Amino acid sequence: MEGIESASKQGRRVVVIGGGIAGSLAAKLLQFDADVTLIDPKEYFEITWASLRSMVEPSFAERTVINHKSYLKNGRVVTSPAIDITETDVITGDGTVIGYDYLVIATGHNDSYPKTRQEKLSQYQREYEKIKASESVLIVGGGPSGVELAAEIAVDFPGKKVTLVHAGPRLLEFVGEKAADKAFDWLESRKVEVILNQTVDLNSVSDGNNTYRTSGGETIHANCFFLCIGKPLSSQWLNRTVLKDSLDGQGRVMVDEHLRIKDRSNVFAIGDITNILEMKQGYIAENHANVVVKNIKAMMSGGKKKKMTTYKPGPEIAIVSLGRKDSVAQFPFVTVVGCLPGLIKSKDLFVGKTRKARGLNPKLSQA
Ligand SMILES: Cc1cc2nc3c(=O)[nH]c(=O)nc-3n(C[C@H](O)[C@H](O)[C@H](O)COP(=O)(O)OP(=O)(O)OC[C@H]3O[C@@H](n4cnc5c(N)ncnc54)[C@H](O)[C@@H]3O)c2cc1C
Repeated sequence: MEGIESASKQGRRVVVIGGGIAGSLAAKLLQFDADVTLIDPKEYFEITWASLRSMVEPSFAERTVINHKSYLKNGRVVTSPAIDITETDVITGDGTVIGYDYLVIATGHNDSYPKTRQEKLSQYQREYEKIKASESVLIVGGGPSGVELAAEIAVDFPGKKVTLVHAGPRLLEFVGEKAADKAFDWLESRKVEVILNQTVDLNSVSDGNNTYRTSGGETIHANCFFLCIGKPLSSQWLNRTVLKDSLDGQGRVMVDEHLRIKDRSNVFAIGDITNILEMKQGYIAENHANVVVKNIKAMMSGGKKKKMTTYKPGPEIAIVSLGRKDSVAQFPFVTVVGCLPGLIKSKDLFVGKTRKARGLNPKLSQA
């Protein structure tokens, strides 16, 4: 096993596990105050909610797929999944052992990603070619990914037949019924066929005829399909670590008001993986990162500087983009659809803002 030990900043070794929305920000904000190691199976951070745009415009990904080393100039990156945690170390799949004084768990959702930025950019190019070459596209799953992808294709390729099949009774089950209905109407107005309460047997396609059967006995003709179903939390692996008793029945990490893991003074969790009762959103994951950064800095100062900061969930906002101009937005007291809420997200998809928060030029692409 290879060990990473740093003598220079004793008592200030911070290990962040997961380089997604929450972990990338925490690592970036701590890098000049602590000895930071970021662990992620891939070499890059991706602005997750921009991925559907990159499927219809692959060059968009140049700004949204960002090597960790571009924003973490004063930290170390270990490109391998974390597989174990002891009282003192984190162990990764490639056998690296990393000692920690503070640990931040931000492993969000499980997915299979290419390892390098270049491979990810090539994947978007292939997906784009596939969409471009198809007359008809089947999208399976009516959550935010499925709805945003259907809208992107409907706007950029209005001549293509898009069918969206969702197993539940309504689209976008993470928001209220009003927002779901508005998204449904918008998609139908763009000639997307939405089929609810049905599943598709993706193995039912017989060679050459591109016809799929649904659970309701319908047939759908499509030259290609995209599976857009929710990804499970990446927390199973914690069951094999010293934190195995820190998960609730749904596999979420239980945290206190300072975002510390129950009964642990130096281990924090942030982002979608936490058990906080609130919407699972990236801007909320970033709020978690900001709180934990303050708390780690306070602890590293021996409590001399500041008190621990408490995390308080704020008002919840969800915006689902509908192509390049429109969106459906749910605010605490109102739900709106169209180009006005679209002004908030749909053109740049918060890419400039997310890059800026990591110290990167909002406009330039980053290798
Ligand atoms: C289509 C869509 C649109 C969205 N739109 C918005 C929006 O407009 N605004 C908004 O605020 N939110 C939006 N969200 C939600 C947002 O993407 C998530 O809330 C956010 O990504 C959660 O961040 P996270 O850091 O907790 O997890 P993630 O971003 O999922 O990151 C997890 C990271 O952990 C890594 N990882 C996993 N397992 C391990 C392991 N064992 N060891 C090391 N690393 C590991 C992964 O590689 C990944 O880098 C959207 C989501 C979707 C799907």
